[in-house]
Amino acid sequence: MKLNGIRCKSCGASIKIKEGDKNVTCPYCNNTYTIDDENKNETSKTKSSAQINKTVTPQLMILLIMIPIIIVVNIAIIAGVVTSRSRSVSNKVSSQVENSKVEQKKEQEKRKLQTEVFGFNMFYSSGTKIGGNVGYQLDHVITSNKTNKDRAITVKYQETQTTSPDEILQIKKKLKEFDNYEVILNYDDDGFVKELIVEEVK
Ligand SMILES: [Zn+2]
Repeated sequence: MKLNGIRCKSCGASIKIKEGDKNVTCPYCNNTYTIDDENKNETSKTKSSAQINKTVTPQLMILLIMIPIIIVVNIAIIAGVVTSRSRSVSNKVSSQVENSKVEQKKEQEKRKLQTEVFGFNMFYSSGTKIGGNVGYQLDHVITSNKTNKDRAITVKYQETQTTSPDEILQIKKKLKEFDNYEVILNYDDDGFVKELIVEEVK
C-alpha cells in the first residue's frame, strides 16, 4: 500500500493519505480536503516547488548578498595593494633622491676637505733641506699655530717637542747654526700636517 501526503493549508500539518482516498481530514484542525488524481498531482507539484524554493532560495539569497560583498572586498583589497605599492614606490624614489642628496653633500664635503688640506699642507715638505728652507717652514708653523689652534703642528727638534710659537721661534734660531736638515712630516687622519720633525744631517 502506497502512502502519500498533503500539507494542511490551514495549520501546515502533514496529512497522510491512502491510495484511493477521496477525502482527508486534518487530525489537528479538522479541515477536510477532497482528493482526486489532479489534486494529488497539484499537491505534490506544489510541494516539490515549495521544496525547491526552500532549498534554493536561501542559497540564492546568500549568493546575491555575497557577490556584491565579494566584489567590494576585492576592489578594496586591490585598491589597498595599488595604493600601498605606489606609496612604497614613491617612498623608494624619495629615499633614492635623499640618498643622492646625501651622496652629493658627502662629495662636496670631501672636495672641500681636500682643498683645505692642500691649502694647509702646501707650505711644508719633507726631505733634506738647507737651513733657510727649514726656517721658511717653521715661520709658517708659527703663523699657523697662532691662527689655527685646532690644527696646531707639533715641532720636534732634539729634546724639544712643542706647538708653542715662541718655542718654535727658539728652534728656528738654533737651526741657523747648521746648513742641512732632514724634515719629516706626519699627518692626521684627515691628511693635515700634524708633526714636523727636524733632524740634523751630518
Ligand atoms: Zn490542519
